[in-house]
Amino acid sequence: MSIEKNLEKRSNGVCELCGSNEDLKVYQVNLNDEGTDGSVLLCGVCNSNVDSPKEIDENHWRCLNDAMWNENQIVQILSYRVLKQLNESWANELLEMMYLDDDAIAIANSGLVSDEDAGDIKKDANGNILVEGDSVTIIKDLEVKGAGFTAKRGTVVKGIGLGNVAGHIEGKVNGTKIYLKTCFLKKV
Ligand SMILES: [Zn+2]
Repeated sequence: MSIEKNLEKRSNGVCELCGSNEDLKVYQVNLNDEGTDGSVLLCGVCNSNVDSPKEIDENHWRCLNDAMWNENQIVQILSYRVLKQLNESWANELLEMMYLDDDAIAIANSGLVSDEDAGDIKKDANGNILVEGDSVTIIKDLEVKGAGFTAKRGTVVKGIGLGNVAGHIEGKVNGTKIYLKTCFLKKV
């Protein structure tokens, strides 16, 4: 079955964000995590505005009130990103009610790198700004390429350095100085 057919079946032939059945197309959610399938079925309006949701009347996005409870995590992740970008009080209230596990929040936030791109601000999985000397917890097992070990979920890394690689900080794990992706870290 094609991706589109699969999605049509999953969504009962309607947009997975707003429920419209017009101009349905597959949208690929941009993910850093290769293990997750990023395809979602969206209507024409959602498809063209989901990356810059503030361009259209915010009332369109009230549909996220339902979409954020979708049984497919990728739809939840997309809803989370749109709500975050809207940054309206009602949207922030929905974000607080939303249930996503740490991995999903990390994936959702890793797609929102605009302020990291703009400056050199580094943020953890929850959007907290990281500074030199902070301690962080790793929230996902991370294979350290070249070093031959896995930095285990739950490991605390003390006294981080900001380094100069976008989206990463420097820290010592197992006595080895490595770069760690900020979206898989939580400030402690
Ligand atoms: Zn839609």
